[in-house]
Amino acid sequence: MPNEYPSGPFSDDPSTLAVPELLTDLTKAGVDFDTSTDVRADHGRDWWPLSIPDVANGRVPRWPGVVVRPTSGEDVSRVLEVASKHHVAVTAQGGRSSVVGGAVAPEGAIALDMTGLDRVLDVDTVSGTVSVEAGVFGPDLERAVAQSGWTVGHFPQSFELATVGGWIACRGAGQYSNRYGKIEDIVRGMSVVLASGESVELAGRAPRQAVGPDLMQLFIGSEGALGVITRATLVMHPAPKSERRAAYGFSNFDDGLDACRRIMQRDARPAVLRLYDESESERNFDEESCALIVLDEGDSYLVEATMRIVAEECGEATALDADLVARWLEHRNDVGALAPLWERGYVVDTIEVAGMWATLPAMRRAVIDALAQMPDISVASVHQSHAYLDGACLYFTFAARPEDDVTGLYRRAWECVTEVVLRHGGALSHHHGVGRNRARFVPEALGGGFSVLQDLKKMLDPENILNPGVLGLGGAPW
Ligand SMILES: Cc1cc2nc3c(=O)[nH]c(=O)nc-3n(C[C@H](O)[C@H](O)[C@H](O)COP(=O)(O)OP(=O)(O)OC[C@H]3O[C@@H](n4cnc5c(N)ncnc54)[C@H](O)[C@@H]3O)c2cc1C
Repeated sequence: MPNEYPSGPFSDDPSTLAVPELLTDLTKAGVDFDTSTDVRADHGRDWWPLSIPDVANGRVPRWPGVVVRPTSGEDVSRVLEVASKHHVAVTAQGGRSSVVGGAVAPEGAIALDMTGLDRVLDVDTVSGTVSVEAGVFGPDLERAVAQSGWTVGHFPQSFELATVGGWIACRGAGQYSNRYGKIEDIVRGMSVVLASGESVELAGRAPRQAVGPDLMQLFIGSEGALGVITRATLVMHPAPKSERRAAYGFSNFDDGLDACRRIMQRDARPAVLRLYDESESERNFDEESCALIVLDEGDSYLVEATMRIVAEECGEATALDADLVARWLEHRNDVGALAPLWERGYVVDTIEVAGMWATLPAMRRAVIDALAQMPDISVASVHQSHAYLDGACLYFTFAARPEDDVTGLYRRAWECVTEVVLRHGGALSHHHGVGRNRARFVPEALGGGFSVLQDLKKMLDPENILNPGVLGLGGAPW
């Protein structure tokens, strides 16, 4: 976790503890649960940076009433039946690595710890798919498929902290997503338990089906608000036999961005194509220009062709030492950077968004300018982390050291960036999702689509028990 609670007793609020009748029904349902103060405290937080000061001071952001530990889809069904009967909210929790407060259960809710559903069920080396339970963590998944010479290729920075169910529930992106796709490109089928306790199988029969809309997509990115994912089938790739690296320096970010666009539009898919602005290039690589790091892996013919296209499109840039890629690889899964800064009084966070190539340069400039004009902001920087035929993900970082009102400044920084991004036609999030932090922006971000989402929520979860508050649905924003 980002930081640890200081040792010593918690001042638990007994009013949030699950009522005895609920615990009796959970016992009858035969599922394991825990009401101890320490366990509830741990499950009362995720990696949302705003909760770091609370945790450092021994305060629990939200006390769940009970932590329930299913080990099968049938257990999950029974828990949701009990929750419906008692009108108690349920927050599915995977690795609790959400950085937007998505995995923080409301006060008194059931924290549904999904990590007991941890089996790799089947590796199909003919079709190239792997079926797993939703609580499997990244390293366990990759270890299981590597034994047969395959990879799923989904490597988020939080690889060791997050589960397959959490990846799907947040529409996550791995750092090699240009080659392997985002999770919505990787998932082929899944089992979902609805609020009623009913379990449904979605897709998974064949690569494509023309049998009405793809209902599976409804639950990809649903953040635990429409159903609980219990199993998933993911597509695999043969483990890469070849890997190539390169790095280039651009005199300005827009030129680098345009090179990324041209590379993608020539149908090259280098697994990693990350462009840093001057500030982040200096911070990460001691490099004055805007550094572009490139890595591709896979079949040697494809890798060779891809890197030739990259070299051609970066012809005007300065070739940099490919060791920059090794430096990035060395630190790419470091996850402890923000907590020490918050503990020293800084307000710091990252905001990932997406936009079309045609609007990205103006959007980037406007976001950086708007942040720079905010009082107290000392860092406003950006990199491009995931690229597509038609646009890319921009990943902004801001830091400030306010005298007081940490929460106010944090909220204003998010509002500042979000306003500019939406005004430029960008997407509210590319891969972290909405959680509770961004819930207040969803009506504007979805426009008319928001009422469709609200109707779906009412239909699928009439008692409003599933993770109320995330996605701007069924609960007050934070
Ligand atoms: C240091 C750091 C780096 C990160 N880097 C990346 C990155 O590179 N790419 C990326 O995409 N994300 C990244 N994240 C964000 C986070 O890891 C992802 O959102 C991840 O997918 C969450 O998975 P989890 O298992 O931890 O889910 P949790 O945090 O436990 O839950 C997240 C949301 O998913 C819901 N959920 C979880 N499991 C289920 C389930 N089985 N069924 C239904 N809903 C469920 C929860 O209710 C919640 O709304 C990073 C986070 C950290 C802390």
